[in-house]
Amino acid sequence: MSTTSRRSSDQDADVIVVGAGPAGSTAATYLARAGLDVLLLEKGVFPREKVCGDGLTPRGVKQLIDLGIDTRPEAGWLHNRGLRVVGGGVRMELDWPELATFPPYGVVRPRQDFDELLARTAVKAGARLREHTTVVGAITDERTGRVVGVTARGGAERTPVSFRAPLVLGCDGVSARLALSVGIDKRDDRPMGVAVRRYYTSPRTHDDYLESHLELWDRSDPANPVLLPGYGWIFGMGDGTVNVGLGILSTSKAFGSTDYRALLRSWLDGTPEEWGFREDNALGRIGGAALPMGFNRTPHYRDGLLLVGDAGGMVNPFNGEGIGYAMESARLAAECVVQALARPDGPARERALAGYPAALRAALGSYYRLGNIFSRLIGNPVVMRTATRYGLPRTTLMRLVLKLLAGLYDVRDGDLMDRLITSATKLAPSA
Ligand SMILES: Cc1cc2nc3c(=O)[nH]c(=O)nc-3n(C[C@H](O)[C@H](O)[C@H](O)COP(=O)(O)OP(=O)(O)OC[C@H]3O[C@@H](n4cnc5c(N)ncnc54)[C@H](O)[C@@H]3O)c2cc1C
Repeated sequence: MSTTSRRSSDQDADVIVVGAGPAGSTAATYLARAGLDVLLLEKGVFPREKVCGDGLTPRGVKQLIDLGIDTRPEAGWLHNRGLRVVGGGVRMELDWPELATFPPYGVVRPRQDFDELLARTAVKAGARLREHTTVVGAITDERTGRVVGVTARGGAERTPVSFRAPLVLGCDGVSARLALSVGIDKRDDRPMGVAVRRYYTSPRTHDDYLESHLELWDRSDPANPVLLPGYGWIFGMGDGTVNVGLGILSTSKAFGSTDYRALLRSWLDGTPEEWGFREDNALGRIGGAALPMGFNRTPHYRDGLLLVGDAGGMVNPFNGEGIGYAMESARLAAECVVQALARPDGPARERALAGYPAALRAALGSYYRLGNIFSRLIGNPVVMRTATRYGLPRTTLMRLVLKLLAGLYDVRDGDLMDRLITSATKLAPSA
């Protein structure tokens, strides 16, 4: 089949992409631009809410730029110049590093708006977006076991509808319903996170820095306060509101038994009154969701199904960032699919598809492996306490930590810190 082939039925396509979050819309855009007939199935209707911190580091911004999105402030993007780290009695502003690979600014934009923009970009590229379409499972060929389409419910239709394509991308987020329907479960040997957030009207809405608070104490047992492995964030949205939230790793003993919404309330109650993080200024409810990290669902390709973004556990275990990595994995998946569909069905095509997990491992495998080790280490309260007490007051060390935690280093021709991080990732076996 050539990359420009068109199918007759509007329920058939060259590629089906399930979920129009950052992973799905990015993949659909690249695939459609390559001339493929792409069906993008989304259970929601845009604009729709997505519980998130709404922040992108320069690593995420690079993905937007690669996709051809105008990221200037005039186009509605609120820029930030770095990270303010608060904890251990220290308050430090760390500018994003000057690098060849990544821009020197991060951005903030509500997901309500961000996701619609990306979905519209996919449509503009030629993808066929079907909203209000909930995929319930994969259709597999009984003889070969390959995924050859999906079944979905939506709109006024009561009976499930089937959509068919030789390749399907699972971009349905942390629920990963599609992967589960073919028995690809999550891996318990990889970290998971939980994050909650809420919007407030606040005078802190204008801020040049993303602010992160590294000391989160669980004081539910007042006699035994526990320092949790995670951080709280305060991201000014520039429109009179602030996105505040916190994320915790699964590697601590407290995971699962913590009431995250209560933890958020108790942290915010302790912030200065004038910041406004009080019930009267709250907008909407506290939303929360899981963060699937460090490739916690594999294989990323099997029998016609590729897992992309949260569905494949792409969240960075160092910092909980997931948008940029969803987009990065989408780009790699699209490249392999375009190559695969230009080849005849059979071993040649499969070789191109096997290139997807290989490309993911090459891009992120060692870094995520190191992140998985890091998440286990800071799950120990003693390590966490020592790190915040002795690490935070040291500016040079914190610059290195910022580069490591946000994945902001040049692999080629970097400075001493970049070379140190690259060496450390090489020492860690690939995830
Ligand atoms: C509280 C919180 C704060 C966060 N803060 C940040 C942050 O500041 N920065 C950052 O980079 N990351 C952050 N993350 C992580 C980030 O939100 C995710 O990593 C990112 O959204 C992953 O993108 P995705 O496209 O893979 O999945 P999603 O964004 O979850 O998109 C999945 C899409 O699939 C659709 N879908 C789901 N099931 C089906 C189905 N069965 N049929 C059809 N469609 C379906 C959904 O409606 C959705 O549109 C945060 C996460 C949480 C929970």
